[in-house]
Amino acid sequence: MTPGIELDQATVTYQRNTVLDGFSLTVDAGELVAVLGPSGSGKTTALRAVAGFVPLASGTVRLSGRDVTGMPPHRRDLGLVVQSYALFPHMSVAENVAFGPKSRGVRKVDIAERVRESLAMVGMASFADRAPRQLSGGQQQRVAIARALAVKPKVLLLDEPLSALDAALRSEMTAEIDRLHRALPAVSILYVTHDQTEALTLADRIAVLAAGKLVDVGTAQDLYLRPPSAFTASFLGAANVLPVQVLGAERTNVLRIQLGEHILTAAGPADHRPGAAQLAIRPHRLRIETDHSDGTNRLPGRISAVQWRGSSFRTTVALDGGGEVVVESPATGSAPTAGERAVLVFDPTDGVVVPAELVAS
Ligand code: ADP
Ligand code: MG
Repeated sequence: MTPGIELDQATVTYQRNTVLDGFSLTVDAGELVAVLGPSGSGKTTALRAVAGFVPLASGTVRLSGRDVTGMPPHRRDLGLVVQSYALFPHMSVAENVAFGPKSRGVRKVDIAERVRESLAMVGMASFADRAPRQLSGGQQQRVAIARALAVKPKVLLLDEPLSALDAALRSEMTAEIDRLHRALPAVSILYVTHDQTEALTLADRIAVLAAGKLVDVGTAQDLYLRPPSAFTASFLGAANVLPVQVLGAERTNVLRIQLGEHILTAAGPADHRPGAAQLAIRPHRLRIETDHSDGTNRLPGRISAVQWRGSSFRTTVALDGGGEVVVESPATGSAPTAGERAVLVFDPTDGVVVPAELVAS
């Protein structure tokens, strides 16, 4: 089946500044792809390029196989949801949702049906006659989604749709969008966010963006469990990243590496070249031990700070060989104590060797 969205080497420049740099991505029918990156990395620009609000300096956009590069937004057959809801304040909920189909010349009886259907999909059927100002933020965002669905688009674009909502509502709406995604098997969804939890929860695939460039793209699980780069390891899961030297293969998919004076083992392809690389370890995959005996994958240091976070402790450890590492541990036993010596231990499969080069962000 033809992908709903195909960006091919899309480049966008503002006043000679390249903010999207040869970005290529496809979103299949029924697929939700999250574009994840820090603020200013070009996520909104990528979405606006798909929508047609910003011209490409080079590259192409195809929607359902049709080249739409240079075509105005209203001819592109897509639904758009932005962070600020952008509902028309002087129109009722129903009028807001009817706006798209109406301006596309859909027959009156069909419009009423579409409004009912779209509002029902987001659980807002009983709010049709309300004014937007009579709704909470979460309800307004549901209406904005219904408005986007009412044109029956093949392509749905969402730009940080939940970032204006409080944490509890955000997680409720994340589940809601997940349900919608499954209910729309013919629609290609591009979901822009800087929130790794939203991306991991919702996305079939994640495209990681930094400084206008695609860093990595893959399934949420692959990128999380086997991050291909230091940038993805730290942005998607807040991994600690330490400089290491690869010495050689220890066994299948486990490498022997050197960190300072310590010889360690960590996950990585057996054919990895010896030489400079980095070791990524997630905070909750490190254990703090007070037993200082020898063993494998043990890094001695001193606890420099401890934060209690309700369900966990977040402990910062200054390694003897230099560098700081953050450890997240369940707040069950007694709290680690700042100033005390500690040994950090990790399983070889919980450390991942990633390439040395850092992506500028
Ligand atoms: P994100 O959505 O990831 O936060 P944006 O796509 O909004 O990032 O912006 C990417 C970069 O492009 C930023 O450096 C931003 O300042 C710049 N930018 C965005 N829109 C414009 C514009 N209309 N004119 C000039 N620069 C812009
Ligand atoms: Mg943005």
